[in-house]
Amino acid sequence: QKEIWAQLKDEPTISSDNHHVELVANIGTPEDVTGVVNNGGEGVGLYRTEFLYMGKSKLPTEEEQYEAYKSVLEQMGDKPVVVRTLDIGGDKELSYLKLPEEMNPFLGFRAIRLCLERDDIFRTQLRALLRASVYGNLKIMFPMIATLDEFRQAKALLLEEKDNLKSEGTVVSDDIEIGIMVEIPSTAVIARQFAKEVDFFSIGTNDLIQYTMAADRMNERVSYLYQPYHPAILNLVNNVIEAAHAEGKWAGMCGEMAGDSIAIPILLGLGLDEFSMSATSILPARTQIRGLSKQELASYKEQLLSMSTADEVEAFIREKTNQ
Ligand code: PEP
Ligand code: MG
Repeated sequence: QKEIWAQLKDEPTISSDNHHVELVANIGTPEDVTGVVNNGGEGVGLYRTEFLYMGKSKLPTEEEQYEAYKSVLEQMGDKPVVVRTLDIGGDKELSYLKLPEEMNPFLGFRAIRLCLERDDIFRTQLRALLRASVYGNLKIMFPMIATLDEFRQAKALLLEEKDNLKSEGTVVSDDIEIGIMVEIPSTAVIARQFAKEVDFFSIGTNDLIQYTMAADRMNERVSYLYQPYHPAILNLVNNVIEAAHAEGKWAGMCGEMAGDSIAIPILLGLGLDEFSMSATSILPARTQIRGLSKQELASYKEQLLSMSTADEVEAFIREKTNQ
């Protein structure tokens, strides 16, 4: 098994009927890139920048961040690197950034909500990213977007800092794609409207499932409700992919679901373009996808979307894919 995986390290990810999808990795630090390269990752689909801010006594400087982003981009060469801007709050706290206690931190002041209010923190990160952009193939994505207005505000700040840097004489790449994470149901539902303005979507199922099912992703007591194959989740995911494609954009997924062997055939059939997972899942996923027919899986789409339960979906996929 390991040998088959190793042989596929430098191979593209193609289905048995010759459709290419991109298998990329989730990382948290520049050191993680070694694992991505060693496991044949075709890029980075989610760079969680929180680690730059966590376990410290103060905010990271623009220079510190610039070095980290530059390092990741250089190591990946011309392969895409999707960097997610700061997603703090919820389960992730910073000791030096005192925030008022909240009744429902996962529904509270976090991620883009915090960044738009504390735009001093946000601008520093955006400047570091823009300065690093000339060292590789950078794509920037905003987390926890619930409204178009949030996306427009975040993008405006990015473009403002880009202008500032340029007028200071700093070189900045002119083809940075700007996308969003789809992890809030409101955004998944009106993905059509978002698709006209964003360059790409990356579906964050870790949060999308918890918000759709109203089941805390950290709470064991309700973990039975945390159902990736629930037809409601599949319908939202499908809506996002269709919306992206209708506008000529691409749709990826960076939640745990993207590396799951039951979910992979479903997502392939729904037309997902990019699957971002932990580096060690890449070669097993590539092996699996090379044995799957995208066209056959696509033919099950309507049937899957109209199923009533997650169990029904799982049983169907297990049977069709011999798992
Ligand atoms: C997600 O919500 O699916 C995601 C990838 O982000 P995180 O797990 O960091 O919240
Ligand atoms: Mg998330």
